[in-house]
Amino acid sequence: MDGPSGTGKSTVSRRLATTFGAAYLDTGAMYRAATLAVLRAGLDENSPADEVIAAAVGAKVGSGTDPQAPAIELDGEDVESEIRGGPVTKLVSAVSAYVPVRAALVERQQELIADALREGPGGIVVEGRDIGTVVAPDAGLKVYLTASDEVRAARRHRQDSKAGRATDDATTLADVRRRDRLDSTRAVSPLHAAADAVVIDTDHLSVPGVLEELIRLVTERGLVR
Ligand code: C5P
Repeated sequence: MDGPSGTGKSTVSRRLATTFGAAYLDTGAMYRAATLAVLRAGLDENSPADEVIAAAVGAKVGSGTDPQAPAIELDGEDVESEIRGGPVTKLVSAVSAYVPVRAALVERQQELIADALREGPGGIVVEGRDIGTVVAPDAGLKVYLTASDEVRAARRHRQDSKAGRATDDATTLADVRRRDRLDSTRAVSPLHAAADAVVIDTDHLSVPGVLEELIRLVTERGLVR
């Protein structure tokens, strides 16, 4: 499941995984945890690239694959709440644009996917920006979720308010656009739909509406027993 932020990827991915007893992996959370390690090392967007890369690649990022309780750890500490905050959100696209950072995390993601496929009968739903294009090019179903900037910013804003993070509409819209631009124009694994992805525009679809379409696709492809 790929697509820019605010398309509802996390919500529908988790619900889809729960529906089919599948595992779930949030790769964005892994890039965010690596970014938190960069910040904790006292570095920021103006720091030398080699130092940022060393901190991110050296980060001990752990990720659970339970859709009901996705856990993200840095050095064994639960960092779920901290990785959603402003400082990480601001820096994450810059950190995830570095080739060695992507190489390290993609390898880890592929291991987690292989483990889940070996251990569980239900398969795995993986969400991110390069899942269909790079991480799992042989996936049985690739979905690319889209929505207009305004709709995505409004969803992000609602999410932030619910979680007690103060933002205003204009700042959220600017942040969504800035991150999309960075994610779509980077040299390695830029955000784009895989040639064989099913593109779903979620502007006028509710979460249950998207989920219904995904369940139809999974069933139609014979991906569940
Ligand atoms: O999904 P989320 O918005 O939490 O992702 C945070 C950031 O992590 C994205 O803006 C992108 O820069 C990066 N990312 C990535 N590749 C992925 C998942 C996320 O580069 N597979």
